[in-house]
Amino acid sequence: MISLGLEGTAHTAGVSIVEKIDGKCNVLSNVSSMYRPVRGGIHPREAANHHADVFPGLIEKAIEEANVDFSEIDIIGFSIGPGLGPCLRTTATAARTLAIMHDKPIIGVNHCIAHLEIGRAITGCHDPVLLYASGGNTQIIAFLEGKYRIFGETLDIGIGNCLDKFGREAGISFPAGPEIEKIAKNGRKYVELPYSVKGMDVSFSGILTAALHALKEHSIEDICYSLQETCFSMLAEVTERAMAHTEKDEVLLGGGVASNKRLQDIIKTMAEERGAKFFVPPRQYLVDNGAMIAWTAILMYESGYRMGIEETAIKQNFRTDEVEITWR
Ligand code: AMP
Ligand code: MG
Repeated sequence: MISLGLEGTAHTAGVSIVEKIDGKCNVLSNVSSMYRPVRGGIHPREAANHHADVFPGLIEKAIEEANVDFSEIDIIGFSIGPGLGPCLRTTATAARTLAIMHDKPIIGVNHCIAHLEIGRAITGCHDPVLLYASGGNTQIIAFLEGKYRIFGETLDIGIGNCLDKFGREAGISFPAGPEIEKIAKNGRKYVELPYSVKGMDVSFSGILTAALHALKEHSIEDICYSLQETCFSMLAEVTERAMAHTEKDEVLLGGGVASNKRLQDIIKTMAEERGAKFFVPPRQYLVDNGAMIAWTAILMYESGYRMGIEETAIKQNFRTDEVEITWR
């Protein structure tokens, strides 16, 4: 089965063509374009305009690179939520257009679950606890009693958003995460920042304020270092607790922030210390991408999911545990 997937929940428009062959995920093409605000954070309407501009070209490129004819594509998948309303609407419109024009079934995919499914498919892990750390989202997700459940999450902003906002105030251009990672390597001193774990949840907005405040008295290197150490330790703590609670022995990373080597090291060490296995897919599958949508659409379709065009309305606040999981 061959699927074309459209991702467009936030800043990234992605298109991918994925084939399921002998039960395995074979990515035939995976292209994307990221909206980068000239200044400030993501403006949802502008990001949506960006997606509308680039989708036609990306779709063409994905088909060309995959070397398939549109008639060979069996289904159209798209990210139905959660995400920014205007971006989701643009992506859904593109998907509906393709489905109607070419008379193909359409499947709306939950973005967070797609991160987990592509991680399983690419790394070969079976039943992991996912630490999904991205710009807008921060969640700890695992499969339990028939559903993907959220075991912990941010109570305010996503971890990537925290890093990007800090960067913006500190004069680092968007996305700031990679640059903060570089600067943090030269940090020497840990500056105390509010470590905010509340039960199984985390909170980043207080740390952001404190880090910006501390910049007045400490070097940017020390603050970037301290910001990473504090935020990543919090994530490790709640991820470990989810692993202990669910008795799972695999941990998987997802989301753009998961490309951070320091975060990878911290989670890997935590996993090793509890005798668990650590998995991280290559960067192109960590960040928002069309392949995860195309692949999850195949899993859903093959397990009996069907969606009429009238059922493809976007779900801005789509929760991971609302999805009925028929493929596991
Ligand atoms: P996503 O929302 O999953 O597409 O990922 C984008 C987010 O990942 C942005 O907030 C980036 O700042 C962040 N990011 C990307 N690379 C890194 C990195 N090496 N370290 C920390 N954050 C990163
Ligand atoms: Mg994402």
